[in-house]
Amino acid sequence: PPSIVWFRQDLRLSDQAAFAAGAAEGSVLAVYVLDDETPGEWRIGGAQRWWLHHTLAALAKSLAGRGVPLVLRRGRAAEQVARVAQEAGAARVHCLAHQEPWWREAEDTLARSLDLVRHPGRLLADDGMVRTGTGGRFRIFTPFWRALQLHMPPPSPEPASATARGMAHPPHSERLEDWHLLPTAPDWAEGFAHWTPGEAGAEARLEAFADEVGDYEQARNLPSTDGTSSLSPHLHFGEISPAAVWHALDGKAGAESYLREIGWRDFAANLILEQPDYGAAHGRAKMDGLRWRTGREADADFRAWTRGRTGYPIVDAGMRQLWHIGWMHNRVRMIAASFLVKHLLIDWRRGQHWFWDCLVDADYGNNAVNWQWIAGTGVDSSPFGRIMAPLVQSPKFDAASYIRQWVPELADMGDAAIHDPHAVGAAPADYPAPLVEHRAARERALAAAASARA
Ligand code: FAD
Repeated sequence: PPSIVWFRQDLRLSDQAAFAAGAAEGSVLAVYVLDDETPGEWRIGGAQRWWLHHTLAALAKSLAGRGVPLVLRRGRAAEQVARVAQEAGAARVHCLAHQEPWWREAEDTLARSLDLVRHPGRLLADDGMVRTGTGGRFRIFTPFWRALQLHMPPPSPEPASATARGMAHPPHSERLEDWHLLPTAPDWAEGFAHWTPGEAGAEARLEAFADEVGDYEQARNLPSTDGTSSLSPHLHFGEISPAAVWHALDGKAGAESYLREIGWRDFAANLILEQPDYGAAHGRAKMDGLRWRTGREADADFRAWTRGRTGYPIVDAGMRQLWHIGWMHNRVRMIAASFLVKHLLIDWRRGQHWFWDCLVDADYGNNAVNWQWIAGTGVDSSPFGRIMAPLVQSPKFDAASYIRQWVPELADMGDAAIHDPHAVGAAPADYPAPLVEHRAARERALAAAASARA
């Protein structure tokens, strides 16, 4: 009987243990289910639908090159995979174990009705390897990272098996085009041409970055340069394995600080395994008393933030970059997120959802952990009272040309005035006035934090 390989956020053939196991068993059939039901509010967002379309097209092509059919279905993943298994007369289903709570639930459901084999491969260290001395999970990054390194390097990545034998008469597949994952009118994804979804695109990006990793430590905080790897959407969709990234870079001058960032990805997965509702509930319960602004005025501020019209150039540049290419530089994500939470005193969960819909790298664990870190509500967080000053951060990290690129109203402005054009009376008429004044916003945030504690 054939075996099934169930693909989700692991859309590659190299170093893909589920595919390798299926291929070794005889004839194989690949399945992908577009599941907008099981994840509930965390169903795949708008920007990622664009990515998904292209990465599935690439995967189908690589599979076809090996004679393996890809069956596409819509609906609840656990039900659909079971149905395809039945139609194909399959004996076994292989998958990579996922950490998102809804995927774990779907895996558990499926495992009750058929032979499901869960393989490691989403993380550097398989779940369960990185534990405290007493067997618990780490809640702070630095000791987690120290413990993770004891298990490194990860196993060497395995090349894609060349010997797969596809199932001759596969069950019916839906057509990718019928899923309408691409935007039409308006086509907001024009700027996404920046990206090459799929395994080959991921490998090319890694190869290019391997030559630049030596500059990472220096350049990673400067939004005006391409100092980071831009591998995040490829890693989220599993087009490349973290082990492959590790082995490509380990030992290169300057790679340590980069590999530590990849370690944050494992840490975030570790936290959502510990607290599956981390995207909704505070890591620090004592922050539950914080009174976020709500109502019409807060809604208008939120909308201005999403549009990149806060009057703070660095924040606006980030929010517009997000809209145009589905990605934002990490330093600017921190500044923009902090602005929403502290300056506007708007609930971080609203920002998290906006990011979820707009980011091509939207990832439940990474998004929640970073939002809670910024908001001061997480288990491992900077304190709420530490408030980033966007007008200080912007010149400090040399963001002038980044702002000129993403905020066209300010494109002609020189380095001295661009970080805060209002202060020098140089703001063009079509650029909005600041939503709030920094010092007043800071006091309001500190007062809210104090009353939450009381
Ligand atoms: P690089 O600097 O080249 O880092 C390499 C890889 O390490 C990344 O691709 C990513 O997989 C991982 N990584 C780096 N920084 C972090 C981090 N702080 N936390 C977890 N993993 C990290 N990242 C996501 O992948 N998905 C998200 O939904 C997401 N939401 C975020 C929300 C906020 C408010 C903030 C402040 C950060 C968020 N990040 C998220 C983390 C980080 O901003 C991105 O991973 C990074 O900017 C991606 O660009 P890169 O691949 O060039 O990063």
